[in-house]
Amino acid sequence: MTAQLIDGNALSKQLRTQVAARAQALQAKGITPGLAVVLVGDNPASQVYVRNKVKACEDAGLHSVLEKYEASMTEADLLARVEALNNDARIHGILVQLPLPAHIDAQKVIEAISPAKDVDGFHIASAGALMTGMKGFWPCTPYGCMKMLESIGYDLKGKHAVVIGRSNIVGKPMALMLLQKDATVTICHSRTPDLKALTLQADVIVAAVGKRQVLTADMVKPSAVVLDVGMNRNDEGKLCGDVDFDGVKEVASYITPVPGGVGPMTITMLLVNTLEAAETSATKAL
Ligand code: NAP
Repeated sequence: MTAQLIDGNALSKQLRTQVAARAQALQAKGITPGLAVVLVGDNPASQVYVRNKVKACEDAGLHSVLEKYEASMTEADLLARVEALNNDARIHGILVQLPLPAHIDAQKVIEAISPAKDVDGFHIASAGALMTGMKGFWPCTPYGCMKMLESIGYDLKGKHAVVIGRSNIVGKPMALMLLQKDATVTICHSRTPDLKALTLQADVIVAAVGKRQVLTADMVKPSAVVLDVGMNRNDEGKLCGDVDFDGVKEVASYITPVPGGVGPMTITMLLVNTLEAAETSATKAL
């Protein structure tokens, strides 16, 4: 069997059209949703990510501000900038691009962002809200994965989901979101002794490791749904995921490609979160 693709570009296009329409409705009330993206240093990958985020905002009719600082910026100065953005009424979402230079405590900076503007969903208040099932911003990558499952009408109730990876930004929030939809969730990591024994039981597998070929066809139950979060380079320097796409697509029922899968959905959910932050602030202003 050959799996059906879950096309992150096509789904993103649909969702971004909806964001643009909602942004226009807000604009009619005099509010333009605004995102501030803060980049410290000159990490080349980060520069590409922030450029893509800013462009996506502009394309959807959102206001965006890109603040770029030298790698030598002090932690105190960065915290002061975050505080200024917290108090800026034109800014509804604040994103500090990670990684930050080593002399800056990234967690301290994240905690300085107002939870109402934490559109990346990394603040401890957002993590706590997800943990307890309360309203709050969901981290964009796992949120995008949930939208992909929703797009194929997949009912997670009673299904076994295996998440490979336990980072705070992907693996753990992914597991909580799946749990919230009544899946039975297993979280695997580098110390999991027999990954294959667990993935073979899974109806849904999310690979979020950052290593090529972590998931191969022999590790996948026929008709499982496979979401590939990984972003790696193959021997030819081309972008690839954690999943052996060519092999696994012969076993799975649905699969996300890399590129064109989870990646574009991450930016899309950032736009959704920013829009929702603006909508909430507009309601409060009434
Ligand atoms: P991370 O913080 O490095 O976490 C990787 C996780 O994988 C860790 O929990 C680690 O276990 C686990 N792991 C490592 N080797 C393993 C193995 N052989 N078997 C099972 N688990 C293993 O990475 P991350 O930030 O979560 O990102 C994961 C991947 O997603 C990266 O490729 C990243 O570039 C990509 N990503 C993509 C997007 C997107 O928009 N598409 C967004 C974010 C991240 P331990 O905890 O035991 O070390």
